[in-house]
Amino acid sequence: MSNCTCIVDIDFNDAAEISTSTIRKARKSHECCECDREIIVGEHYEEATLLYDGSWDRYRTCLDCLSVRSAMFCGCWYYTHTWEELEESLRERWEELPPSSAMMALTPRAREMVCDMIEKIWEEETLKEETEGNPNSIRLDPRDQAENHLINTTD
Ligand SMILES: [Zn+2]
Ligand SMILES: [Zn+2]
Repeated sequence: MSNCTCIVDIDFNDAAEISTSTIRKARKSHECCECDREIIVGEHYEEATLLYDGSWDRYRTCLDCLSVRSAMFCGCWYYTHTWEELEESLRERWEELPPSSAMMALTPRAREMVCDMIEKIWEEETLKEETEGNPNSIRLDPRDQAENHLINTTD
């Protein structure tokens, strides 16, 4: 897809035989299968049932994680792996920010979580690049440098 703005495009050839998904209103509290947060009574969430390898599985996803899946994933996903797959894809293309249309399609909470993730990846990758690019340039603390200077001159 040439003008697709999805971030995660999983190579998928192992789809469930039957799957259904519906938006439900929680009559008791549940746990989101993606972010582990509590889905509280009265809150809407997605319930998906999948027949896979002869057995049925049920996955409940909060609307925050659901927005990540629909804005960032290109049609396919593995339940319970949404954040992991997103992090992997964002890391591969960390110098490029996700399209703002995708960011705007997220719920406020999901947007905050994605922004935190981007920030974390950015920090880690820049640090990695700095140390990989210049293995000899270990930045010295100014005090250490002064001490080194002292040792050298007393010699
Ligand atoms: Zn969630
Ligand atoms: Zn797509």
